[in-house]
Amino acid sequence: MAPQGSRAPLEFGGPLGAAALMLLLPATMFHLLLSPGLTLCWGSGFQALVLTALLVGLGVSAGLPLGMLTEMLLPLAWVATLTAFIFSLLLYLKALMAPASALAPGGNSGNPVYDFFLGRELNPRFGSFDCKYFCELRPGLIGWVLINLALLVQEAELRGSPSLAMWLVNGFQLLYVGDALWHEEAVLTTMDITHDGFGFMLAFGDLAWVPFTYSLQAQFLLYHPQPLELPTASVICLVNAVGYYIFRGANSQKNTFRKNPSDPSVAGLETISTATGRQLLVSGWWGMVRHPNYLGDLIMALAWSLPCGVSHLLPYFYLLYFTALLVHREARDEQQCLQKYGLAWREYCRRVPYRIVPYIY
Ligand code: NDP
Repeated sequence: MAPQGSRAPLEFGGPLGAAALMLLLPATMFHLLLSPGLTLCWGSGFQALVLTALLVGLGVSAGLPLGMLTEMLLPLAWVATLTAFIFSLLLYLKALMAPASALAPGGNSGNPVYDFFLGRELNPRFGSFDCKYFCELRPGLIGWVLINLALLVQEAELRGSPSLAMWLVNGFQLLYVGDALWHEEAVLTTMDITHDGFGFMLAFGDLAWVPFTYSLQAQFLLYHPQPLELPTASVICLVNAVGYYIFRGANSQKNTFRKNPSDPSVAGLETISTATGRQLLVSGWWGMVRHPNYLGDLIMALAWSLPCGVSHLLPYFYLLYFTALLVHREARDEQQCLQKYGLAWREYCRRVPYRIVPYIY
């Protein structure tokens, strides 16, 4: 029997949208990987990253040709896509045996295409192994920095040393991944974990889309070297630092507040009470716009593209796609918060009228 969420309004354009996205997402990833010039060629998440770095370091010092990885991106992307399909199918079948209480509110419409895409079970587990929690950050994010590193090594082999632009892209994205894995438990309060089922959307996103498309800037730089002067590089570093400051400040403020509202760092902030007993921050970062963390994330996305120059659109793909993703995600979250908090949410929207960019959106 479907849970209470089966009557929830369908998102992503319903079954038709879900079917289209299932074709469109892999097609886009392969199109990007095939773009001209690119075809030539258990502890904490942070501990997993450090362990991977140690193993790769050992491998490279023993002669492992890490740069060769850049020539295997297409076959690896195929394998990751196939894995995501098979994994999603197994998860779909597993959900047939799951109790109604384990199903996600959104992925149980009764339409198999839509439910396969969105995911039926909220947090599928094998014993104590939580598939979604594991996949959300580790394989995709660590795979992403590994591909970036391989591209840097390959550039050094081709041109004698990695370019400044390649160092910046690698450094910025390593900071982002390191930060996500350092704050790994914060993923537990995200929409992906608390609301969305684990189906093709997240499996493909986590295992294939993130490592192969988020590394596009470094892939681009390998085949299109960009001269970058120190003053320009310094400005780009500043843009990334501003983005990171907003992103981390906003996320930490909310996480601290949700964990312990009496924590001295958030106790003085103004709040709105809701009927659920939870409160909403209405000053500090969350009084500036309704999603300050998205704003910081987008500013960083811009900083990751700028080292690639402005002659090609390809390195800006992430910024464009991510803007669309966050605008859509913000609208979904808005809808869910309105359902959860009702009038209190309307009051919050009145007090904080802008969604992501102050005075603009
Ligand atoms: P958020 O961290 O933005 O959380 C939204 C939730 O925060 C709401 O549902 C509500 O939940 C709570 N909230 C909203 N407003 C307030 C307020 N004023 N006071 C207190 N709590 C509030 O969710 P996301 O999962 O979308 O994003 C997490 C991070 O991940 C972001 O930084 C985002 O940029 C990043 N991200 C990155 C992606 C990538 O591919 N690089 C993809 C998606 C996200 P409740 O009240 O129930 O606590």
